[in-house]
Formats: sequence, C-alpha cells, structure tokens
Amino acid sequence: MTRPLVAEINLSALRRNYQLACQQLPQGKSVAVLKANAYGHGAVQVAQALQDLAPAFALACLEEALELRQAGIQQPLVLLGGFFTPDELPIIAQQGCQPAIYSAWQLEALAKYFSQPASLKNPALTLWLKIDTGMHRLGFPLEEVEAALAQLRSFKQVKEVILISHLAQADLLTADEPCALSLQQLARIQQLSRKFNCRFSLTNSAASLTQLTSEQAIQRLGISLYGLSPFSDVQPNKYQSLLSQLEPVMTLKTQLISVRDLPAGEAVGYGGRYITRQPSRIGVAACGYGDGYPRQMRDGAPLLVGEQLASLAGRVSMDLITLDLTACPAAKIGDQVIIWGKSPMATDVASYCDTISYTLVTGLLPRVKRVYLT
Ligand SMILES: *Cc1c(COP(=O)(O)O)cnc(C)c1O
Repeated sequence: MTRPLVAEINLSALRRNYQLACQQLPQGKSVAVLKANAYGHGAVQVAQALQDLAPAFALACLEEALELRQAGIQQPLVLLGGFFTPDELPIIAQQGCQPAIYSAWQLEALAKYFSQPASLKNPALTLWLKIDTGMHRLGFPLEEVEAALAQLRSFKQVKEVILISHLAQADLLTADEPCALSLQQLARIQQLSRKFNCRFSLTNSAASLTQLTSEQAIQRLGISLYGLSPFSDVQPNKYQSLLSQLEPVMTLKTQLISVRDLPAGEAVGYGGRYITRQPSRIGVAACGYGDGYPRQMRDGAPLLVGEQLASLAGRVSMDLITLDLTACPAAKIGDQVIIWGKSPMATDVASYCDTISYTLVTGLLPRVKRVYLT
C-alpha cells in the first residue's frame, strides 16, 4: 500500500506545447524556462524531454544550472537571475552558463574576473544584458545601456551580448491586444537592438500567445510549456483556440479514502468552516497543504471525482481534504480524485485561493511523487 497521491507529468504533452509555442515565432528561437524545478514538474526530466528541441534552457541561478549539468544536459543555460557573488564566475564560464547582467557591481566583478589570465582558458561567454524597459524591477536604465554594452563588448572573453528585458503586464490585454506598456517595452528594446546591432529577448508565454513580437527574437517560454494559460483575469477571446491547444502537463491525482453521510447542520473539518445545508455525502481525499494544496483554498474549489465535479468542503488539513460529494452519489472509496489537470485546470483552482496557476504547480512539495509518462 502506498499513499495514492501522485503528480503525473506528461512529457509528450510538454513537447507538443513547446512545438505549438515555436509556431508562434517561426523565425525566432524559443528558450525553455526550467527555473524552480521546471515550475514543479522536475527540471532534469523536463530538460531531457526537450533537449532535442530547445536550443537553450533558462534557470534562476547557478545552483539550478549545475543540477542539469550533473544530469548530463549540454544545452547553453541562461541564468535569469545572473550571478550573486563574484566567485560564481569561473564556474559559470566553465559550465557554459550565460548570466543576465543587471547591475553596475556585476560589470565591476566581470572586469576583475576577466583581468585574471586564468579566465582566458575558459570558453568565451555569452552574456544577457538586462534592461529596464518599464517593469522597474531589475535592469539597467535605457540611458546606461550604451556604456554597459561597450564595456562588455570590450572583453576578449565575451562572445556575444544579447539584450534582455521582462514584460510587466504581458497578461493584461486591451481589447484582446497587448496593452500600451507592453507595446512601449517592445518598442524600446527593438530600438536598442537595432541601434547596437544586438539580438534581443522580451517575449514570455503571454506575449508569445498574443504575438507581441513577430521578429527574429528570442522568446522565453515558461507557463505555456507546462500547458497552462498565463491569463488569469481576462480571457482573451481572440486567442481562445490557441489557448485550448495547450495541454496541462501535470495531473495531480489521488483517491477517496473515506466516504460518509452527514445530516444537515453538521460542521466538517478544522474550525467547522463547512456546515452541511442538507443531508450530505462527505468524502476525504489524500492531499493537503503538506503536499502543496494551499490551506487558503476556499469551499467550492473544484475537484474531479470519477467523471464528476465535486467541491472542496471545509478547511484543508496537512494531509487531507474533505469534499462534498452530494452531487456524485455513486462516489466510493478508491475512486480517483483529480486535484488539477485537464479538468479542473490549475488556473481555475487557483482562483479559489487568490493566486495563479504558477504558484500551485511550483508549490507542489517534494513529498508528492512525480510519475513521468513519455
Ligand atoms: C520566469 C520568467 C519567464 C517565463 O515566464 P512565463 O510567464 O512563465 O512564460 C521569462 N522571463 C523571465 C525573466 C522569467 O523570470
């Protein structure tokens, strides 16, 4: 006997999602974003499944990149968070990593590292110069780009500098089109790219799906690879057919481990949050906040029991959740319960705890066994 909770990861769906996204930018390149353990899906397995398709992978930091190198992944590895201390630089160079550079102190650290003769022995580096085109998080202000670029290009150890920037509101649309800020951010990076003759990367999943750029750019695909929509507030009609082709890669599933009937007026679970309004059938499933199902989840959150939708009833416990099964009278112990997957989708579940699908899949804890389907 084992606890029935598993996260099934469908690697062929992942590959189809990647290929679908590539069709949005036929002349460009699509970097697969595998940070945070590939959004909870397992970075090594996801990298292995995409290694014959994707020209490069993106991670948050060197530690994540080294995990892929140790598993034998040979793609260039972009470090979106750059480097945090200068002692990372020799390893970055040896390992074929490509850090984002967003701060003056990093330029100084690079200059110091490149002044050491030993740095000439490593392969030349590709660097991603991060620019603040409007998000105001990381990156050089527009007027500092020219000097930073000139400095980076002056080093023998630098092979290429690619401009990178991040969209602040790619998921906000105006009449189904990218919002004004997204268009402005695109215009700014395109202008710099032309002026300084650099390749550039701006597009994330939301921008890819809405075709914010059709040039020979480099897109960075995260959530759409995993088959989830980046749109939570607005549902863009224009892109509905494209969005419907995305296949959720993760199916979090468990089983009913108990079923009981309660009369009206009984309180269920911690704090008695859910009170039966009528004679009700209450099921218990093996999944809880100790697995990453948020404790903030509200009553009514959807779950699929067999073929029928049921709803969360009562506060989430560490290892268990309680469900109202009144609408599925045939439900019995051992029936499959889908927590998120094709139906319900993580995007819909997320709206019951004021979050986005990103945090649900990324927040799946190590206790949950991942099962890979090829
Ligand atoms: C995470 C991340 C992405 C991917 O974003 P999605 O919305 O998941 O496609 C792209 N660029 C940067 C800099 C990121 O940090």
